[in-house]
Amino acid sequence: MSYKYIYLFKEGDAKKRELLGGKGANLAEMTNLGLPVPQGFTITTEACTKYYEDGRQINPEIKAQIFEYVDKLEEMTGKKFGDKENPLLVSVRSGARASMPGMMDTILNLGINEDVVEVLSRKSGNPRWAWDCYRRFIQMYSDVVMEVGKKYFEELIDKMKAEKGVEQDVELTADDLKELAYQFKAEYESKIGEPFPSDPKDQLMGAIKAVFRSWDNPRANVYRRDNDIPYSWGTAVNVQMMAFGNMGNDCGTGVAFTRDPATGEKKLMGEFLMNAQGEDVVAGVRTPQKIEEMAKVMPEVFEQFQKICATLENHYKDMQDMEFTIENKKLYMLQTRNGKRTAQAALKIACDLVDEGMITEEQAVLMIDPRNLDTLLHPQFDVQALKTHKPLARALAASPGAAAGQVVFTAEDAKKWAADGKKVILVRLETSPEDIEGMKAAQGILTVRGGMTSHAAVVARGMGTCCVSGCSEIVMHEEEKWFTLAGKTFREGDEISLDGSTGNIFDGIMPTVPATVSGYFGRIMELADKFRAMKVRTNADTPADAIRAKELGAEGIGLCRTEHMFFEEGRIAAFREMICSDTVEEREEALNKILPIQQGDFEKLYEALEGNPVTIRFLDPPLHEFVPTEEADIKALAKAKNKSVAEIKAIIDSLHEFNPMMGHRGCRLAVTYPEIAKMQTKAIIRAAINVQKKHPSWTVKPEIMIPLVGEVKELKFVKDIVVETANAEIAAADAVLTYEVGTMIEIPRAALTADDIAKEAEFFCFGTNDLTQMTFGFSRDDAGKFLGAYYNTKIFENDPFAKLDVTGVGKLMEMAVKMGKSVRPEMHCGICGEHGGDPYSIEFCHSIGLDYVSCSPFRVPIARLAAAQANIKNPRDFGGKVAKTVKDIGKGIKGIFKKQ
Ligand code: PEP
Ligand code: MG
Repeated sequence: MSYKYIYLFKEGDAKKRELLGGKGANLAEMTNLGLPVPQGFTITTEACTKYYEDGRQINPEIKAQIFEYVDKLEEMTGKKFGDKENPLLVSVRSGARASMPGMMDTILNLGINEDVVEVLSRKSGNPRWAWDCYRRFIQMYSDVVMEVGKKYFEELIDKMKAEKGVEQDVELTADDLKELAYQFKAEYESKIGEPFPSDPKDQLMGAIKAVFRSWDNPRANVYRRDNDIPYSWGTAVNVQMMAFGNMGNDCGTGVAFTRDPATGEKKLMGEFLMNAQGEDVVAGVRTPQKIEEMAKVMPEVFEQFQKICATLENHYKDMQDMEFTIENKKLYMLQTRNGKRTAQAALKIACDLVDEGMITEEQAVLMIDPRNLDTLLHPQFDVQALKTHKPLARALAASPGAAAGQVVFTAEDAKKWAADGKKVILVRLETSPEDIEGMKAAQGILTVRGGMTSHAAVVARGMGTCCVSGCSEIVMHEEEKWFTLAGKTFREGDEISLDGSTGNIFDGIMPTVPATVSGYFGRIMELADKFRAMKVRTNADTPADAIRAKELGAEGIGLCRTEHMFFEEGRIAAFREMICSDTVEEREEALNKILPIQQGDFEKLYEALEGNPVTIRFLDPPLHEFVPTEEADIKALAKAKNKSVAEIKAIIDSLHEFNPMMGHRGCRLAVTYPEIAKMQTKAIIRAAINVQKKHPSWTVKPEIMIPLVGEVKELKFVKDIVVETANAEIAAADAVLTYEVGTMIEIPRAALTADDIAKEAEFFCFGTNDLTQMTFGFSRDDAGKFLGAYYNTKIFENDPFAKLDVTGVGKLMEMAVKMGKSVRPEMHCGICGEHGGDPYSIEFCHSIGLDYVSCSPFRVPIARLAAAQANIKNPRDFGGKVAKTVKDIGKGIKGIFKKQ
């Protein structure tokens, strides 16, 4: 028997998600539950992978199976492709394992041709509907399958409307639409050079190929990168008998959520349009009616629909997002999936489902995407300002958050302006999937048309961008880049603020305040803390950052970059005096000025962390970044150092390096200038002694971290200075203080010789920024210039500086942990590169047995949740004992990463 590439809906179930995609698996599950689903079949994700393996061709074996299943579908429905009595029409839709709303292609009304349109017209007694279906199909097929731009067809529609003296599409008659269908076909032929396909089987093959191809379109690639969806998954294709929502006034279509996707409130929320097809609702072209109004329009159908909603939510134990169609008063379910939701809604829904006894606490923790929390951690509008500022208008609160910025009118401008560091609000009549990159670059999105389920709303919610939609009060002149609202004219660059939680639109820039972790957010964080095994620290260089991070749940500082403490005005001068010194004496003189500044800062950090661990890293600056470039600064430095401007310029020139990232930085600085290491040790130890004295109940135990070590002798050299200086300080103060000296593992050689390094290092902290840079040989500062080409060619799917390369860099880390702990079993290991705040990378860190991750303050809650999810999926406790060996930990790694 040949390999099975196709499943009827009744042959599948929700467990076959990897094979059937989310949509296909759920259509199968709904069929099994006995719900009214128009029947069809799913072509598997494996067929998609095969299509790409075969050089973007559907091979004869799969093609034969497709036709075999068309026969089966014809048998089941009693309809036939191209039949003169009972023609079969289908929709062809994508459906990946993870939902990617609006990113891939869909074709509706497939199977219609010159003969079929006449049959539909006669049988329905509704020629207008039949010709509308036909012209829509030609338009969609031409656009999606053959990539003839939509605009040519829209121009023909506009011309027809002008000729007939009407404004709306719905005012066109059956004859007008018939005429349009012929014009469309002629347009197709002129662009493609062949007649429009009339054989439904040819149409079907074209449509399936188009859906497979759309897996690789640019917007899908961007979406996948943002949502950690691997390219290798592929999409399934669902071929489903059409149900018609546009056959008359007892027909309609809609989308609904079982809970409010913006707030999480438990109530049916959705929209529908009578006499319309699904694309009309989602595209936001017509503003739909609220779902509750269906109770008046079609009470029985509404009652049936409500029951189905309850069945589905109970079945999936999660909020459902459903699409339905009503054909001549008969309800059909076209889709159900776990609905996309805002971060606020996700937290409330998870807590409510626990309280309703539907899910466990662990399931609640697992159901929240940690990346979504980011939106909650950004500033909200100041409540006082909200009270005193009157909004210009109010529209739909489609995706929450506070956004303020300058108005732009195209996605391209949004991208460009944002790249120039400007904050922008993208204002559009309606958005389309092509706008995704602009939507991502914008602080907020404002649309004139569209409801809560329009593309703009769904996509904005998915990416956590504030969105206010359906503001029909705006009079828009999109082409000329201006609009009016509440009597005021807004042009490109004008300032505007959006409150995505209320739908309010304000003139100008509204002030904001920092976010807090409370309510449902606080409760989920508590649950996360209950289930996680790894600690979460923060990368903080200032007391303010440290306090913020502590409020957000940080349990220590994993990295304080001491060079960042000198960025401030007034401090940089002393630093410059230090690096532009010719002699040890000169340098020591400058260091003596720096010492009290550093000590003061460290005291504040210890105070902020209240006895939690604080890791302070020795200076690691590429020196040239700190030298003055302005003439006035050079003169000031010359004066302070009693040198001539020419002498200072000569020193600056001597500091120039061809490859500063691999230059005179990290521990190399302490090797050349041991006095720097001495000064920093004094500052760290004196600060610790002082704070410990002030707070006897805390345990202040400094962790001194030596950066950029590649050879154990380097580490020993610096460590000896630290130990000698620290012990002298402790003795002189007659204090009792313990401290640790450890190292960053950020050079591949350090990982490769981790057993040697561990003889000196009391802890390891993985600096995966440098470790990635040096493992790949990609400059951290320049990789952005060529990574785009790597994505396009599929060499990379993600930025390795954002998402850890577990295959290469990860292997070095795993090895280093194992080798380090073999020498010093009690040593603690953490990560403080950017990956410490990335959920996927955190899962890996958990699997190799790291003790903590450290990330920027705003990512602390994300890391807490990701660490909990990692431990729930792959508990550290192997059969009652904590995993000690990497062999045990390796079991976990395979479990997690096999899908890669
Ligand atoms: C690192 O390299 O990962 C690191 C944390 O250090 P820095 O980014 O300061 O080089
Ligand atoms: Mg580094």
